Amino acid sequence: MKFNNYMGRYFEEKNNILYIDGVSAADLVKEYGTPLYVFSERAIRENCRSYKYSIEKNYNGKGLALYASKAFSCLAIYHIIAEEGLGADVVSGGELYTALKAGMDPSLIYFHGNNKTDDELRMAAESGIGHVVVDNREELIRLNSIAAETGRIINISFRIKPGIDAHTHEAVMTGQIDSKFGVALENGEAFEICDFARTLPNVNLVGVHCHIGSQIFDTEPFTAAAEVMINFMAELREKTGTELKELNLGGGFGIRYLPSDNHKSYEEFMSKVSAKIKEICKERDFPVPFVLVEPGRSIVGTAGITLYTIGSVKNIKNVRTYVSVDGGMTDNPRFALYGSAYNMDIATRLTDKKDTKVTVAGKCCESGDLLAKDIYLQYPVGGDILAVYCTGAYNYSMASNYNRIPRPAVALINDGESRIIVKKEKYSDLIINDVP
Ligand SMILES: *Cc1c(COP(=O)(O)O)cnc(C)c1O
Repeated sequence: MKFNNYMGRYFEEKNNILYIDGVSAADLVKEYGTPLYVFSERAIRENCRSYKYSIEKNYNGKGLALYASKAFSCLAIYHIIAEEGLGADVVSGGELYTALKAGMDPSLIYFHGNNKTDDELRMAAESGIGHVVVDNREELIRLNSIAAETGRIINISFRIKPGIDAHTHEAVMTGQIDSKFGVALENGEAFEICDFARTLPNVNLVGVHCHIGSQIFDTEPFTAAAEVMINFMAELREKTGTELKELNLGGGFGIRYLPSDNHKSYEEFMSKVSAKIKEICKERDFPVPFVLVEPGRSIVGTAGITLYTIGSVKNIKNVRTYVSVDGGMTDNPRFALYGSAYNMDIATRLTDKKDTKVTVAGKCCESGDLLAKDIYLQYPVGGDILAVYCTGAYNYSMASNYNRIPRPAVALINDGESRIIVKKEKYSDLIINDVP
């Protein structure tokens, strides 16, 4: 079999072994052990650049990509993002703390979330971050008074539900009216809150935001959302005289988890969306706003893989073969959460025939602790290294210590060199907050 390096050119096969930007998976495992998250730094940077490039091209640079850092948050990733000239979107005090500690320019940080606490809002105000994306009226009132206490005027936008069905998994669909995120357009809530914000002295309304969901392959929901949002901005101007300057279209661009996924380039999303924005702006005689996008998954997803060691291989006759690895839902809960499909290989026998039907299980005390069900793999033997592809997004950031399993290390690879950017947790880390 030929190795299908659909994750991009930094993932290669040499002598039947998986290489990540010049470093063999076998060597990484020898050096750092398993489970191990591995990222290609150059792949991450390339993804950042493709967004920058398309903002240059489609909006003459009048826009900004914010990395949605919930996809993978640690000091090193914020450094890379900042170096590439992207801003960051954070959704919690913890992400904000990490971004600030990494030295990110606070003015390029946007704070999101459907239920920000007073502490988080105060932290945002005091650190002078660029922008708070306000979710609801109650939060708006709290933010205004916290901003007043800290003597600041905070730039805000509102999270709006454009009423778009994004054709993705229900758990990651967020643009419809029945969603916990944001204010609705249909019932006039969005107009009311924008009008109300003008009466509050310590917030400065500059824009509107929407995020319709995640892992979306069609461009149509994005263009539909853009159309709804520009029309809203134009109507707001007509009704209230307020002309907003920023339109933040969120993230959600799908990535290729499986070779069979019908992936579109980000440039295709961006050019279609920008064409729609320009068209509607012209129709409504509205100035083209400053456009923000918030890619998370598509920056880090395909740049990362996870390496495991296979332990037991349990063949239950006429039922199935369970292949157990030394991690599972603690480092990748996505199969357990959404039944997400992953592609994987035995990392040292890449070109062998994938003719063995297996179910890949983790080591937690849960029958649902699986990474894949009934997939085909090279013939697995205990001690083999299993490489699971496209685990760069929503894996490390969703990891837990269930069963007191320490979180794995994260290795970053760049042109034949590897370094650890997050250390493996030690058993002693697990009891650090325990009070005897
Ligand atoms: C999750 C999220 C994103 C990023 O979504 P991806 O699918 O990872 O690109 C962007 N913006 C907001 C507000 C989000 O909640």
